[in-house]
Amino acid sequence: MNELVELFALLFVLYLFECLAWVPRRTVGFFAFFGRWRARIAFRPNASWSLAVIFGKPWPPLSPPWLAEPLPFAIEPQGITLPDGEQRRLTWEELAPLHARATRAYSGDLLLSTHACRSDAASLAETLERLRTSSAEKRETEIRRFLDKRFDVDVPRFRRKQFAKSVRVLRVLSNALWLALFGGLGAAVLTRNMLILLCAAVLSLVLWPTNSLAFARALRKQSWLPRAHWPDRAKRLVAMLSPLSGVRAADTLAREAWADLEPVTVAAALLSPADLGKFARPLLVAAQPSDGDALAWWRTEIRQRIERVLARRQIDPAALLSPPVRENGRVQTYCPACLAQYEAGRQAGEMCPNESCPAIPLRAFGAETKTGAGSSAGATP
Ligand SMILES: [Zn+2]
Repeated sequence: MNELVELFALLFVLYLFECLAWVPRRTVGFFAFFGRWRARIAFRPNASWSLAVIFGKPWPPLSPPWLAEPLPFAIEPQGITLPDGEQRRLTWEELAPLHARATRAYSGDLLLSTHACRSDAASLAETLERLRTSSAEKRETEIRRFLDKRFDVDVPRFRRKQFAKSVRVLRVLSNALWLALFGGLGAAVLTRNMLILLCAAVLSLVLWPTNSLAFARALRKQSWLPRAHWPDRAKRLVAMLSPLSGVRAADTLAREAWADLEPVTVAAALLSPADLGKFARPLLVAAQPSDGDALAWWRTEIRQRIERVLARRQIDPAALLSPPVRENGRVQTYCPACLAQYEAGRQAGEMCPNESCPAIPLRAFGAETKTGAGSSAGATP
C-alpha cells in the first residue's frame, strides 16, 4: 500500500505542473475565488527570467486561469517604441515585413515580442504589417481602431459565453476524470480498500479516452478560435495521450479566449468596481503624459481608453488619482500607483521601490500636480 501512497504523491506533483501556465511577465491572470474574481500579475520565479507563471486552481470545478496581456510596446503614427533599455523607436520605414511564428511576433528576423497565446501574436503582427504598408495619413486612424478593439468592454462577456458553450461537455468529463484519478485514488489510499482502487482505475480508463475525444470535438466544433491559432500539435497530442494533461485540456483553449484584449478590458468585465479601481490605478498613472514625453501621443490614447472603460463601471478616474489619506505627520511622499507612503529619506521624483510599480515617480504630499508618468512604454501595471 506504501507504493500506492507514493504513486498518488507522484501523480499529484506531476498534475500540479499541468496547472501552470508559462507566460510573458506582463501577463495578468484572472481567477474566481469563492465566486469573486481577482486579478493576479504573473509570478516571476526568478527576477532575470523573461518568463513568469500563472497557476490554475488544481481542484474542481477546474476553472482555467484566464489570461490577458497588455501590448508589449507603444504603437504610434511614427513607428513603434520597444520598452527595452533606452526605449528604442523603430519607424515604419525601418521595420521589415512583420509576421508571427507560434507565440512570437517578428519584424524580419528581429524578435519584437513574445505572447501568452498564438492569436495575440498573430493579430499584432497582422496589424503592424497593415500599418507598415499603409499610408502615413491612414496610420493614425488605423491605430485608433486597433486600440478601440482591445478596449471593447462588451467582448469579454460575449467571448466567455462562447467559450463556456464550446467546452461544456469537455469540462464535465475533465472534472469526472479528476475525481476518478485523485478522488478515487485518494479514497483508496485512505481506506486501503482494493475494491475502491479497482473502481477508480476502471473509471479512469474509461473517462480518459472519452475526455480526449471531447477535447478533439470541442476544438472542431467551436466557432471562436480559427484553426491557425489552435494549440500546437504537440500540445494537442499530449492533452489527449496523458490523463493528467487531459484533465487540464480546457486550459489550452482558455488561454486564447481573451488574447486580443487589454487586461483592463477583461478586468472591467469581471472585477467589482472597488477591485477594478485598484487594478486600473497603476495603469492610469503610467498613462499620464509628462512634459516633453516622447510617448505623449500613445499615453494619451491609452489613458482616454482606460477612462472610457472605467466610465462604463461608473468609476471616476480623477478620484482614483487623488492622493491617499496621510498615514501620519512623518510621511512625506506617496506613490500614486500603489499608494505606499514614505517618510523622510525618499524624495518626490524618486522611483517607487515596489516591484509592481515600474518607474513610477513618488509625489510629495501637499504638492499634488500631474507630474506625469513613468517610462514604461506599454500599459503594463
Ligand atoms: Zn508604488
